[in-house]
Amino acid sequence: MNPPRSLAEAVAAVPGYDPAALSVASAQAVIAALVQPVLAVEHVSIRAALDRVLACDVVSPIDVPAHDNAAMDGYAVRADDLAPSGPTRLRVIGTALAGVPYPGEVGPGCAVRVMTGAVMPRGCDTVVMQEVVTLDADADAVTVPPDQVRGQNRRLRGEDLALGRPALTAGRILTPADLGLLASLGLPEVAVRRRLRVAFFSTGDELRSVGEPLGPGQIYDSNRYTLWGMLHRLGVDVIDMGVVPDRPEALEAAVRTAAASADAIISSGGVSVGEADYTRAIMARLGDVAFWTIAMRPGRPLAFGRIGDAFYFGLPGNPVAVMITFYFFARDALLRMMGAAARPHLYLRATSAGALRKMPGRTEYQRARLTVGEDGTQRVSALGTQGSGVLRSMSEANCIVVLHHAQGSVAPGEMVDCLPFDGLL
Ligand code: AMP
Ligand code: MG
Repeated sequence: MNPPRSLAEAVAAVPGYDPAALSVASAQAVIAALVQPVLAVEHVSIRAALDRVLACDVVSPIDVPAHDNAAMDGYAVRADDLAPSGPTRLRVIGTALAGVPYPGEVGPGCAVRVMTGAVMPRGCDTVVMQEVVTLDADADAVTVPPDQVRGQNRRLRGEDLALGRPALTAGRILTPADLGLLASLGLPEVAVRRRLRVAFFSTGDELRSVGEPLGPGQIYDSNRYTLWGMLHRLGVDVIDMGVVPDRPEALEAAVRTAAASADAIISSGGVSVGEADYTRAIMARLGDVAFWTIAMRPGRPLAFGRIGDAFYFGLPGNPVAVMITFYFFARDALLRMMGAAARPHLYLRATSAGALRKMPGRTEYQRARLTVGEDGTQRVSALGTQGSGVLRSMSEANCIVVLHHAQGSVAPGEMVDCLPFDGLL
């Protein structure tokens, strides 16, 4: 199926679409249907590829390991030589070190001293660990106890990665383990998607930037810092466009500039009921943008659409609402634009320490602290302050309790879904 070309087409797929009362899941579905990954690819060295999105499958060009080799320090032997019961005495004919193979063939009645990682000497199929053998005084013979298992302590060629098999699949965000894996294949470079460019700005006449004095009724702009932090962790290139005053011309100029230079535009503020009117008029002129009221708390107002070639996310102004809407709407969309495979939030189930009041019919996100008791059970306590302007609560919390759309109030001791901040962004 072709992706929808317009918002109208994307929302047509949502049963009972109502922009004034949209569920979180429906809004997420519309966004996911519309955003598309950037296609450009660049080749970067392995280290530069950390946290980047792999653009193509990596097929192993070699067997790793390249040879059967010893998994232990000990003696490589031929299992056929070993007596079924009772010890076996074998002649030690040489040594194999990691990187220095034993050159010859090993015949009946012989053993080779091997170190971990040494290529299995030709003729041998089994390694007996050095701790269990008895060595003759002159070290030219070794006695192996019974009950050794054929093939033990031997790593097989290609057991880590076999030649021609996919080692990493496109869409992965490369981890330290992946970098090591690429190196183990001998690949100095890897193809990754180009970095996403995201422009962001704050709106509001009341906002001042850090370093400026505050006049009466003014506040410092914190959203640009929160957003910068979350975007930075996502690994996108950020374009900070500063504070845009509440004037239609200023907003229009900012949006035009952003759309010309970025793949995505994120604004905060100016989409709540009182302010949405002129924002709506500008967006209607510049692109294809929907203004939604989402059945969620905190959050509620959200604008989403396309302006030129850029996707636009108009987040609410409240500092907590900015973070929540970023995590639950913008994050997944940006990951998709980066070319990353879907990474659904991995919820952790924990016992709610207290009662949580909740109305069915909207999704609620409560800032909370997750702790592990001495008995190992995970307990979660919602913080007292849940106002969407209280950023401190976001800072004190280590997780968000997600109370899903259809869910009602929670009694103490009930299990709830938590999203730990660690690993989120
Ligand atoms: P708005 O969505 O523009 O109506 O803003 C909602 C609330 O969030 C108001 O109290 C604003 O002052 C506040 N707010 C908006 N933008 C920011 C920002 N960038 N930093 C801190 N507070 C903000
Ligand atoms: Mg405002």
